[in-house]
Amino acid sequence: MARHRHLSRRQRIVRRNRIILACTSTILLIAIIVIISIAVRERNSKSTNNKETENSVTNTQTNESTDNVTNTDRENISSTEASSEETTAAYKVTSKGFKIEEIDGITYVDGVLIANKTYSLPGTFVPTDPDQPVTEERSIKCLDKTLMSAWNTMHKDASAKGLNLYISSGYRSYNYQVTVYNTYVRTDGVAKADTYSSRPGHSEHQTGLCFDLNTIEDSFQYTDEGKWVNDNCYKYGFCIRFPKGKDQYTGYQYESWHLRYVGVDLATKLYNNGDWLSLEEFFGITSEYPN
Ligand SMILES: [Zn+2]
Repeated sequence: MARHRHLSRRQRIVRRNRIILACTSTILLIAIIVIISIAVRERNSKSTNNKETENSVTNTQTNESTDNVTNTDRENISSTEASSEETTAAYKVTSKGFKIEEIDGITYVDGVLIANKTYSLPGTFVPTDPDQPVTEERSIKCLDKTLMSAWNTMHKDASAKGLNLYISSGYRSYNYQVTVYNTYVRTDGVAKADTYSSRPGHSEHQTGLCFDLNTIEDSFQYTDEGKWVNDNCYKYGFCIRFPKGKDQYTGYQYESWHLRYVGVDLATKLYNNGDWLSLEEFFGITSEYPN
């Protein structure tokens, strides 16, 4: 401080101005640095956001393309399966997309055993899970265990309404059908016999999963029993196997008395709010003899 006393006034002014200039420059420099750093930070954050957005777009595209590949693969797999199965006849798909499996000569569509004019049973086939052992050529007792349980419930409910339902025909062996069919052919010829009787191996009665009720006559549909069966059997898992007006699908005339057990879910779909569908229509399969 002592030295200031020796400085002239002009020198003091110059010195002060220099200090002010230095301070101003420093402040300006700091301000510039701050502004630049803020600008750089903003730019960085913007470019990061952009990158993130780009990444997410890329991810979405990647996912989509992955999905497309998966779908294409699926299509390829199914078409490969379908085509290879068609050639090997081990796995086919019906016209409505249901899986057809052939196990030990027995055909299952969507897991449902099918015996019709297209799909036959081996001569050795007998009901796989009978309520009672299969020992006779024909029986109303050695039917499928699950079917019998459903039948007992349906029979009880029908009886409670004063209706008289009874099974008139149940299981029939392959050999029994040989005898029956040949008798009809001798009487009416093949063409006529094929409209009401099954060729051996093609009869659903060999499965143990169906039965005929009461009188096997057209008049059954007009009885109280026939009407009740038509409107209620699906609740117990039964379907009218050969519905009215469905000959072109089933290959058989209307049989109001012939019930097939398929389980409540499928039976309800076949009931179709009273407009019975045949198994053939529902699954998209045929019922035609090969010759
Ligand atoms: Zn029948």
